[in-house]
Amino acid sequence: MTVDQPKYKTSDEVDFVIVGSGAAGGILAKELSTNGFRVVVLEQGPYLTEADFTHNEIEIFAQDKLTNHPKLQPTSFRKTPDERAKAQRALMYGRCVGGTSVHFTANFWRFHEIDFIERSKVGPIPGANLVDWPVTYADLEPYYTKVEWEIGVSGLAGSSPFDPPRSKPYPMPPLPVKSSGVLFERAARKLGWHPFPAPMAILSQARPGRSACVQCGYCLGFGCEVGAKSSSLVAAIRVAERTGRCEIRPNSYVHRIETDANGRAVGAVYFDEKRNTHLQKAKAVVVCANGAETPRLLLLSKNKQFPNGLANSSGVVGKNLMFNTYSSVTGVYEHPLNDYKGYCVSRVLHDFYELDHHKVGFYGGGGLDARYEWTPVSFAFGGMPPETLHWGKDFKATLAHNFSRTMEVSTHGTSLPVENNSFSLDPDLKDAWGLPGLCLTYKDHPDDLKLTNWLLERAHEVHEAAGAVKKWSFPAQEQQFGVHLLGTCRMGNDPKTSVINPDHRTHDVKNLFLCDGSSLVTSGRGQPTMTIMALAFRAADRITALAKRGEIGA
Ligand SMILES: Cc1cc2nc3c(=O)[nH]c(=O)nc-3n(C[C@H](O)[C@H](O)[C@H](O)COP(=O)(O)OP(=O)(O)OC[C@H]3O[C@@H](n4cnc5c(N)ncnc54)[C@H](O)[C@@H]3O)c2cc1C
Repeated sequence: MTVDQPKYKTSDEVDFVIVGSGAAGGILAKELSTNGFRVVVLEQGPYLTEADFTHNEIEIFAQDKLTNHPKLQPTSFRKTPDERAKAQRALMYGRCVGGTSVHFTANFWRFHEIDFIERSKVGPIPGANLVDWPVTYADLEPYYTKVEWEIGVSGLAGSSPFDPPRSKPYPMPPLPVKSSGVLFERAARKLGWHPFPAPMAILSQARPGRSACVQCGYCLGFGCEVGAKSSSLVAAIRVAERTGRCEIRPNSYVHRIETDANGRAVGAVYFDEKRNTHLQKAKAVVVCANGAETPRLLLLSKNKQFPNGLANSSGVVGKNLMFNTYSSVTGVYEHPLNDYKGYCVSRVLHDFYELDHHKVGFYGGGGLDARYEWTPVSFAFGGMPPETLHWGKDFKATLAHNFSRTMEVSTHGTSLPVENNSFSLDPDLKDAWGLPGLCLTYKDHPDDLKLTNWLLERAHEVHEAAGAVKKWSFPAQEQQFGVHLLGTCRMGNDPKTSVINPDHRTHDVKNLFLCDGSSLVTSGRGQPTMTIMALAFRAADRITALAKRGEIGA
């Protein structure tokens, strides 16, 4: 934390209170404070910095040091609304300043033109609630470019024939290719496909106060101890703090947006570390708590005037949840690849981004990449061949042999928006503060499963062409757990079918804005964070313009 932060009183009516400091919240904090506004960011998690980030797998994977904790904030799951939900871990997100961008893997794809206009192009899909976005790729392009240059994204412009148009090259070259990338590239070319260097939100060249990637191999799940991962913590929040107008208030768990008799937001009510309650007053509230916690907060904020929850006259808050589909084929090679060294993904291909659904018989599209996302303990649990017994001499020998010879070819694809797929308040489950926990209702659309199995076949072909000596995968399973939390407060022009307008303003509450994964209308083909950040840069421009025209303040 820098020394420049102001300390606002809760009774000070600041210009904006931002709930959540993740991928979107961090960008909005930076942009709004840079544009001259007084901003308080309320973040439920702690303020950790590079010195706090370690390679301790137990703390990260078993003790949830950086993520939402199932005991503090329990969740439940059911497949359909008529089932009774059972308590189980249903989602994961980063619970610290910088949010999920601190511990994410940092694959960083732009959405393509098709993602914004797919409903018009493919027509209705039975069982899905697919609609076009009210903004296009062209509207967002300048903001994608802004993300790349401002936070630091490495990549090679023009290296994929399927890339959407761009106004500028990447600000820095791709990270060095890994063994998995070399094998993937050779194999994919043999198959007539078009692999290219993976765009990553990881620095290949140092920036002030941030080192280039040191190839330590601890990206997925871990905070970056050298600041190379372009989280909103290192790339945006520090800039916000330096304006002297932005206060980041960690350990502040918001549980209600307060409104007045005129139906306007007056501020955010939160528990501090000692569980005392405060109301931080503000002229406007911007909720960036992610695709799970943003709808939860709106539902928790119901009152007489807003009996279905805040900004929920449409009834769609929490609905149309999308996760993205994901699957993987693991392969073992004759010679050591040593792919555990370094960042996760160095080559990608987008040949299947836009499949002809009449030809393949299902809707969807996706990408493939070559990756190694294991750390030693996680590899022992999840990276071994399925028939391996997890003890004894053979286990040790296979572990020692495979650890350095394994790579994965992973598939990333669309999830269709389905109305019943949702986050709602569980009537029985309470969190550690006595508030209703989240209930996940989710059943993949049949086309999502068909797509995943189709992409898995392509991933097997890559391993075959690359010469894997052994490979295995599991058929697509219905998902019961999400890390890409998308679409639950979708953007649209019609207040009856969407929650926010294209300015990210809620249709129902004039000075309440939402911007995060919940704003998305379609899921893209995976890697949604680039789009979430681009939307945040755009939202900041729109909100600033409204504020400067005096169209927000009470
Ligand atoms: C393991 C993992 C790997 C991933 N890898 C990738 C990847 O490679 N590429 C990619 O594009 N995406 C990836 N993602 C997804 C990506 O990280 C998220 O899509 C993105 O960070 C979401 O941004 P957001 O702004 O919606 O929310 P978040 O980044 O989740 O931020 C929300 C913030 O709000 C805070 N908050 C929530 N509720 C409250 C409350 N009531 N009061 C106060 N604060 C609150 C949270 O603590 C959090 O800090 C990954 C996710 C996970 C879990």
